[in-house]
Order: sequence, then structure tokens, then C-alpha cells
Amino acid sequence: MTQLDLQSLMSKQRSYFATGKTRSLEFRLEQLKKLHSTIKAFDGEIVTALKKDLGRSEFEAYGSEIGIIYEELDLISSNLANWMQPQSVPTPLAYQPSSSTIYPQPHGVVLIIAPWNYPFQLLLAPLVGAIAAGNCCVLKPSELASESAKIITKIIEQTFAPEYCAVVNGGVEETSALLRERFDHIFFTGSIPVGKVVMRAAAEHLTPVTLELGGKSPCIVDSETDIKVTARRIAWGKFFNCGQTCVAPDYLLVPKSIKQELITALKAALHKFYGDNPQSSPDYGRIINQRHFDRLASMISGKVVVGGDHNRDQLYIAPTIVDDVKLSDKLMDDEIFGPLLPILEYETLDEAFAIVNQRPNPLACYVFSSRKSVQDRVVNELSFGGGCINDTLVHVGSAHLPFGGKGPSGIGNYHGHYSFLTFSHQKSIVRTPFMVDLPLKYPPYNKRVKLARLLIG
Ligand code: NAD
Repeated sequence: MTQLDLQSLMSKQRSYFATGKTRSLEFRLEQLKKLHSTIKAFDGEIVTALKKDLGRSEFEAYGSEIGIIYEELDLISSNLANWMQPQSVPTPLAYQPSSSTIYPQPHGVVLIIAPWNYPFQLLLAPLVGAIAAGNCCVLKPSELASESAKIITKIIEQTFAPEYCAVVNGGVEETSALLRERFDHIFFTGSIPVGKVVMRAAAEHLTPVTLELGGKSPCIVDSETDIKVTARRIAWGKFFNCGQTCVAPDYLLVPKSIKQELITALKAALHKFYGDNPQSSPDYGRIINQRHFDRLASMISGKVVVGGDHNRDQLYIAPTIVDDVKLSDKLMDDEIFGPLLPILEYETLDEAFAIVNQRPNPLACYVFSSRKSVQDRVVNELSFGGGCINDTLVHVGSAHLPFGGKGPSGIGNYHGHYSFLTFSHQKSIVRTPFMVDLPLKYPPYNKRVKLARLLIG
């Protein structure tokens, strides 16, 4: 798409938004319903595309991509009428007899940019929120999950007119062109460096942004925990989608006293999940491309206690656990975003907390402990987007919880009602009748300061 085509698309979407058609409850519900039926019709093709892009099993494809969208559609559609209602709030005494109301209003034309790791869900879940809030939308899928991008394009083209909702495909060049345009909101999911590029471009137009980024999400294991269950839940969350999950546990902090037992339990869990050879398991995914494969393969070093084998032609990296990792090791530099799990040993919980607190706020944090005091310390003393106590990943699967990072791992959040809020502007209005016009606020103020102090003090 040339810049001219882009400008023409933008201008069509602006005109369409200006007609006001996207604002009514009926229109919004109708679009959500249409999206639901097209996704249903393409269900099989989505699963096939995810298999081709990421070697994803049908179970993982359905659970983490398609099912999540259905849940978002159901929750949002059934609550939308209520959420759209203007909300009355109290009015200060000094402004009586006025009334105060908050009106949720659409932003206008919004841009949604998605990454490749959950290519379908991370583009369409924000879209559900954008539609529910009454916006027009330009969608930019990841060029790296190319099969998924093709299906997404078909779904959107078959469901919506381009002046309402359109897909722009491409990579850095096309996204840069999109970012030169003025949108009313930009919703970006991706890496921290590109998040900065997006925010810089948005600053040119003072466009508000939601940034769903990444980072190194720690997983703290306490000495008092159910080791077998802990191992299973960590292994599942880490190796789901071959470790290419923004909220996957990036590294483990484990006390020496239980480390060997935990490693043995992790091995047993992985064997149960993927058998003797994970390469032939239908449930174990693949790395997205050779660039990411090379990046990950170069990080495998040190005391590998599980896995470590890899095959570039097949983009396969075995579930790999590396023991005795130090903070200065390469595995601890950046987000791993692949099936490599470093284990760091800690002496005291204070030491484990200090390691997490010294690093940028992560997107997620996990703790495994049967002690309520330790669980509470993680919630209250560590700064991170969201997480789980005694589990991994599942907080992202709930449409009732806001999902987002904190500081460097992201700005803003979404899912369910929070998506509606993210894609709406809260317009505050004070309505004042003509009949009473108290002279209090008008000059000359004379000695009214005393009265003002009485009313507002
Ligand atoms: P990415 O930042 O490389 O790409 C994301 C999107 O930005 C893609 O659509 C891509 O085409 C575009 N893009 C890439 N480079 C660009 C540039 N220079 N200028 C403009 N646009 C550009 O991210 P990725 O590799 O697709 O995804 C992996 C990252 O995303 C990880 O860091 C992961 O943690 C993060 N992530 C976050 C979430 C979340 O919900 N917080 C979810 C999934 C992934």
C-alpha cells in the first residue's frame, strides 16, 4: 500500500466515523456478531495457519487464540449496553443545581499493531474492544506469522467494509508509514524497542498509546511448596507455544534446599507432556523463524540439565533447562522468548526479591508457595504488570482481569471491560439549568472568600 493509498484509507475511515454510524449500540453489537460468525467459519483455517506458522497444536491454538476471542466477544456483547450508559456522579455543593455525568465516547480511528507469537488473538482481542467502543480501525498483523496474517486479512475483508475496518499488511516500512499518519489511539503489542519507536511516532501527533510490551518475567519458588505440582505448572507455562509467550516464566529463582528435587520434577513433567523425544510430539511447537532460532541457539550454554538439542532446518529447540545461571550470564540479559529456562539459586527470600526489584518492572511475576505470608510479600513488595500465585499464564486468559504491564513492560491494559475503557474517551460533562443562576461565582467577589472557604474548606 502506497502512502497515497494509506491517506485515502484514513480519509475514508475519518469520513465514515464522522457519519456517527459506528456509535449506536445496535451497530456495535451487529459488528461483534458478524465477527463471531466469520471467525467460526474460519475456525479450521486459523488452526491450520497457526500450525504452519508456529507448529502450534490444535488444543493450544483453540485455547490460546480462538477460545479467548469468543470469551471476549461473549462478555463484551452481553455487558455493552450497560457499559455504554452515561454514568452520573455527585456534583460539588458550590456548583448546584448542576448535575455531572461521564460519557464513554469512541476515540475515532484507531490503529492496532500485533506481534507474531499469538498472531490471531493479539490482533483480534483489541479489535473486539475497539469495535465495542464505537471506533473505526486499521489493523496491522505481524508479517512474521504470514499464514495467520492471510487468514486475518480474509476474515476482516469478508466481515467489514474497509472504511470501517481494514487490514494493512507489511513489515517495518509499512508500519512506519502507518505511524506517520495521525490516529486517535494506537494500540501496540510487541517488543520494548519497537514500543519506543511507536511512542516516539505517536508523540508527533500527541496520540495516546496503549503499549503491551515484554520483559523478563520471574518465577519465584519458595522452599515450602508442592514440588510436583509446581514443576508441572512451571513446565506448562514455560514451554506452551515453545516458550514464545510474553508472560512465560523467563527465569526461576529457587532455594538451594529444594533445587535438585524441583529439577527432577521438571524433567518428569516434561517427559509426561512431550514423551522421550519432544521433536516428534504433536503438542510441542516450533520457533517462528531462523533469526529467532539462531538468537536462542546461541544462548544455550552452561550447565544444561534438560534438553539443549536443536535442529535449525526444523526450527526445533528442545525444552531446555540450564542450572546454576548467574545474573551476569547471557541468558539473563534480555527477554528469552523461547524454550530455555534458566535456574538461579537464592539463599534468602530477601535476596530473591532484590534480584527482581533491581531489574525493570516485568510484565508478569509468579510465586509458588504454600505460605500466605510469602504470597502476600510478592503482591505487595514487587512491581509488575500481573501474575499468578501457584500457577503461570492463567491470569491472561480471564476476560475479567485487566491485562497489561507496568513501566517498561507496558502502558495501559485491556480485556473485557478494560478493553472498552481503553478504546473509549471518558468525557466529563456538567449540565446546569438556566433557572437558577447563583451570583456567587461572579465578580466583584467582595467578601465572598469567607463563604467560599465555608463551602469548599
Ligand atoms: P516486534 O516489536 O518486533 O513487532 C511487533 C510489530 O511491530 C509487528 O507487527 C512488526 O511488523 C512491527 N515492527 C517491527 N519493527 C518495527 C519498526 N522498527 N517500526 C515499526 N514497526 C515495527 O515484536 P515481535 O517480535 O513481533 O513480538 C515479540 C515481542 O512482543 C516480545 O518482546 C514479547 O514480549 C512482546 N509481546 C508482548 C505481549 C503483551 O501482551 N504484552 C504479547 C505478545 C508479545
